[in-house]
Amino acid sequence: MRTSILLALVVLLTADVAIAGTDLDSLLAVRGLSIAAPTPDRVDEFVKFIGEELVPRNVNTLVLRVDYDYEFESHPELRDEDALSRADAKRIVAACREGGIRIIPQVNLLGHQSNRTELNPLLERYPEFDETPHIEMPEEFVWPNPDGLYCKSYCPLHPEVHDVVFAVVDELMDVFEADAFHAGMDEVFYIGDDRCPRCAGHDNAELFAGEVTKIRNHLALSGRELWIWGDRLIDGQATGMGMWEASMNRTYRAVDLIPKDVVINDWHYERADPSAAYFAMKGFRVVTCPYRQPDIGLKQLEMMLMFRDASTPEMRDRYAGMLQTIWSSAGDFMDQFYGRVESEHRRGGDPAESFRSLFAAMAELE
Ligand SMILES: [Zn+2]
Repeated sequence: MRTSILLALVVLLTADVAIAGTDLDSLLAVRGLSIAAPTPDRVDEFVKFIGEELVPRNVNTLVLRVDYDYEFESHPELRDEDALSRADAKRIVAACREGGIRIIPQVNLLGHQSNRTELNPLLERYPEFDETPHIEMPEEFVWPNPDGLYCKSYCPLHPEVHDVVFAVVDELMDVFEADAFHAGMDEVFYIGDDRCPRCAGHDNAELFAGEVTKIRNHLALSGRELWIWGDRLIDGQATGMGMWEASMNRTYRAVDLIPKDVVINDWHYERADPSAAYFAMKGFRVVTCPYRQPDIGLKQLEMMLMFRDASTPEMRDRYAGMLQTIWSSAGDFMDQFYGRVESEHRRGGDPAESFRSLFAAMAELE
């Protein structure tokens, strides 16, 4: 009886700490949305969306997947179709600055150098950077396939690849006036290939960690921070999380080899895995990333608050907040959000509803 009263009191006090007079910034430093950059014809609408939907919801971080959709001056040969102009980018910057939103531009480095059937501009223009040049892109993609092809990777040990990608990264960071960069680095399946003359025989964890460290060090030269997805740092076998949201290709020991100031974006879409604790205990700041299941996003938020509440002062601020991920284009997402098209009900999920409910729950914490 006494225990249950004590427990009730603890719950009450905890709730009090979490709710009454909370400064949302100190409770959840990151309240973010991750989405592809809009195509040029939808920049107007996107700017409006920032002002009317993100700012009132207290979104303070926008991870913007630009990849090669920008009119690069340093490497014009890498411009993708539908590239944003400098003026487009500056309009997004102005809208975010006005709303107090930090922009974190993203270019996928290392992995995701193709979609299912086409190389991205980097490997298209610089085929010598391909980690697996012997594997041809299929006309029609099927999964699984004998090549284990999901996306291409660049070779992290190619002596010229970083001159090109860092020029692109630096240009994007300057135009978006950003102090943090997102390098993606998720779902890297091709790494340390037996037929790569540079990587064969190397340890995959060391190759992965080497690339993370190189990017982090480059950004640190200009006082900028690196964000990456966390999946390659989790043991897919031991956790049962498998090959997508965790690693089955021996990269996970990189968790002990990379600098601790890299911010980990821990994405889980089907369950509210407690892996933020793993990263925080390793010394990293970690942001939990939901996608399309509203109830799972809410459970992940609850867990983030619980971890913070139960932690030592040393650990607490490593639980840095929440980042809602959106994997359709910005235009498609806005169409879903405003009900102009039916929402993406894949596997019973609804990204627009997930975004709405997550931010509504965070607003209640204020
Ligand atoms: Zn290689």
